[in-house]
Amino acid sequence: MKRRPLIAGNWKMHKTVPETLAYIEAFKPLVAGVEDRDIMLAPPFTALDAAQRALEGTNISLGAQNCHWESEGAFTGEISPKMLADIGVTYVIIGHSERRHIFGETNEMIRRKIEAALKFSLSPILCIGETLAEREAGRTFEVLEQQLKEGLEGFSTADLKELVIAYEPVWAIGTGKTATPEQAEEAHAFCRKLLKDMFGEEFANKIRILYGGSVKPENIVGLMARPDIDGALVGGASLKPDVFARIVCFGRTE
Ligand code: PEP
Repeated sequence: MKRRPLIAGNWKMHKTVPETLAYIEAFKPLVAGVEDRDIMLAPPFTALDAAQRALEGTNISLGAQNCHWESEGAFTGEISPKMLADIGVTYVIIGHSERRHIFGETNEMIRRKIEAALKFSLSPILCIGETLAEREAGRTFEVLEQQLKEGLEGFSTADLKELVIAYEPVWAIGTGKTATPEQAEEAHAFCRKLLKDMFGEEFANKIRILYGGSVKPENIVGLMARPDIDGALVGGASLKPDVFARIVCFGRTE
């Protein structure tokens, strides 16, 4: 079954407001008219509002890189899904490996963030993936299973209609080491099978599973040729509009 591709850029802690606006100005014409796939940019929080205005009426959606699990309250320094929805954000990346490993996010915190994001009709992009040590210990599937089961515990298929999964092997993020299309497909197929066991075949067939980890214009075509890879979550290579546009436009001839 063919799913609509999503190519998402995660800028991490990069770009001021003027840099964001200059990027969008350059990027928009490069992807204008690309209607057979979804495109998303996730600038830092400080640039979201300016980016939303600059993206209005385009084929590019706005994403945030994180959110809190409460709508409001005494959580100094945090941003809630309610605030993100209020300024026109539509996707939110949840449980990125940098959040898990640098900021100590647990599967339970991630589950609560997904629940909060869904409450405000944001599409959560749930990131999962094994470290190099886990892969070398033969624990890849066990880790993915735990992240998916604990992160998605208690939700119904109706709740998760807008969920996106991103498989991002930690050893491939920002390292220049991409998983081979075979390694990525093996993990994606495992996740889809698990989602089928958890939520049924119809749900598993509809859900988009993105690959993330050193995606570049040179490797996107090989990855996207695999049956269970439905798009990409791109870090470093999304920082330059021309490079990211080449990834977004993979496989197009015009
Ligand atoms: C990411 O941050 O989600 C990511 C995949 O980064 P990179 O493309 O730089 O490996």
